[in-house]
Amino acid sequence: MDSAPQSVFFDRYSRQVLFSGIGQRGQERLTCGSAVVVGCGAIGASTAALLARAGVGRLRIIDRDFVEPSNLQRQSLFDESDARESLPKAIAAVQKLRAINSAIFIEGIVADLTPNNIEELLSGFDLILDGTDNFETRLLINDFAVKCNRAWIYAAAVGSYGVTMTIRPGTTACLACLLEDDRSFTGVEETCDTIGVLGPVVQLISSLESAEALKLLAGKEDSLHGRLVSCDVWSGRFQSVAAPRKADCRACARREFSYLEGAAQPHVTMCGRDSVQIHERSRALDLAALGARLGPSVESVRHNEFLLRFRVPPYEMTVFADGRAILKGSQDPAVARSLYARFIGS
Ligand SMILES: [Zn+2]
Repeated sequence: MDSAPQSVFFDRYSRQVLFSGIGQRGQERLTCGSAVVVGCGAIGASTAALLARAGVGRLRIIDRDFVEPSNLQRQSLFDESDARESLPKAIAAVQKLRAINSAIFIEGIVADLTPNNIEELLSGFDLILDGTDNFETRLLINDFAVKCNRAWIYAAAVGSYGVTMTIRPGTTACLACLLEDDRSFTGVEETCDTIGVLGPVVQLISSLESAEALKLLAGKEDSLHGRLVSCDVWSGRFQSVAAPRKADCRACARREFSYLEGAAQPHVTMCGRDSVQIHERSRALDLAALGARLGPSVESVRHNEFLLRFRVPPYEMTVFADGRAILKGSQDPAVARSLYARFIGS
């Protein structure tokens, strides 16, 4: 009877243990392994779910946003009640992941990853997984990963196209090797908010990302393919190319971590089409008190324990407990700053 918990454990993961690439030793390593998922939208949510099911022992989910109805077409961890309640994605995701696997440690953090908090949020994990939606944050993760010699997996999807690569500093190319060529990377890109995105390409890319994560966390580095994989689920075009390191790469050769230093980090940033994020200062807000104060002067004030939302037509502002806010209805930083100062305070 002493072996009962062991046998329950191996029964749960038996199909993975039977797979020769993982085996019993690999499963034990997954159980002791940890991963942090940055951004829990479409790719992040699916990747987190696959790793939770696979039994990765410790998962941290970081996300700055809340669930909206337009997410449900592709963000597989969320449902209509999450959108009705405007739950932060990190909170909604953790609820679902705990129901999927109660035997692992899972935590959700509602935050925007910045140069100021990246060390606190990403340190101590075996692997960093990309679930973000922008290159600014990816290059920030890349700087941190290269500096700390930590593996991370780049993953992105837009339209019907997706791309992923496992980055092992010092061994493979890094994201700066891929993106920052002599023509200089401008950061201008198509986004899901401008040209849309299909659920199937999200699932495909998150599957590729998760498989690489399982290899790394199970200690099967020899099985990593080391290639930049891209695919288009509409045209059926799949490509896998070797991505060489750049001899004079800013990050992995010259070790200039400009994103980590964050000198150019603006305090008001674009956050999807027709919305901006304000994160000028970090402070703890009493959302209930703020809601009571705002009640007479704005429309449709609602709050839960994580965020408060109100309307000042044609704008809608969502304020998080850490003082951050997302303004919908404008792309103008000046409008965002002015509304923030007027209703939340400066
Ligand atoms: Zn590099």
